[in-house]
Amino acid sequence: MKTLKIAIQKSGRLNEKSVELLKNCGLNFENYKSSLISPVSNFPLEILFLRDDDIPEYVQDGIADLGIVGENMIEETEVDVDYLQRLGFGKCTLKIAIPNNSPVETLADLGGKAIATSYPAILEKFLVKNNIKADVRMISGSVEISPGLGLSDAIFDIVSTGGTLKSNGLKPFADVMSSEAILIGNKNIENKDLIEELIARIQSVLRAKE
Ligand code: ATP
Ligand code: ZN
Repeated sequence: MKTLKIAIQKSGRLNEKSVELLKNCGLNFENYKSSLISPVSNFPLEILFLRDDDIPEYVQDGIADLGIVGENMIEETEVDVDYLQRLGFGKCTLKIAIPNNSPVETLADLGGKAIATSYPAILEKFLVKNNIKADVRMISGSVEISPGLGLSDAIFDIVSTGGTLKSNGLKPFADVMSSEAILIGNKNIENKDLIEELIARIQSVLRAKE
């Protein structure tokens, strides 16, 4: 029987909950230390520990059969994968935020403004949908400092408590997307029975939590 591969985040906000979920499914494996791949001893499965940015394409290309990643990453990378199961953790909202003293009052006021983000594709789709022509500037980290540095008029980023916005003199302006961790699958998975077994276990763990 072919061994399945599931990609999960190596370290970061989704790592701990992803590992916990798989362990609660009764899977025995060593947590990530230095090796990128951990075999599961009691199920024909291997766990790949990756950066979350790489997970969508690995699953699309079939290097991994399954993956656990934020919906925001799927939306951003525009990959073609199956949405198999929402997982109820890693919840967050992606928002446009503006400086406290910004003249921007309506969505239309964003026209011609520079917006810094690590999620340019999601932002572009939102802007097109709302008929706004703004200047999207890709920044890979610490997006929230960019208005203070004079690099942008607004930002688009993940916001959870809003504390980071506040400490950078910013306020939420528009909610664009909410996200949670989801289980995704390759479109041409061969081993349907094994996948179904795994999904059934995941669903019963999720139900037990309700
Ligand atoms: P990696 O090193 O794997 O590239 P990262 O720094 O890009 O990690 P994390 O900050 O660990 O990513 O976030 C991973 C995912 O967790 C996000 O894409 C998002 O779906 C989710 N998430 C939930 N809450 C938050 C939050 N408050 N801030 C950032 N991400 C969050
Ligand atoms: Zn990342």
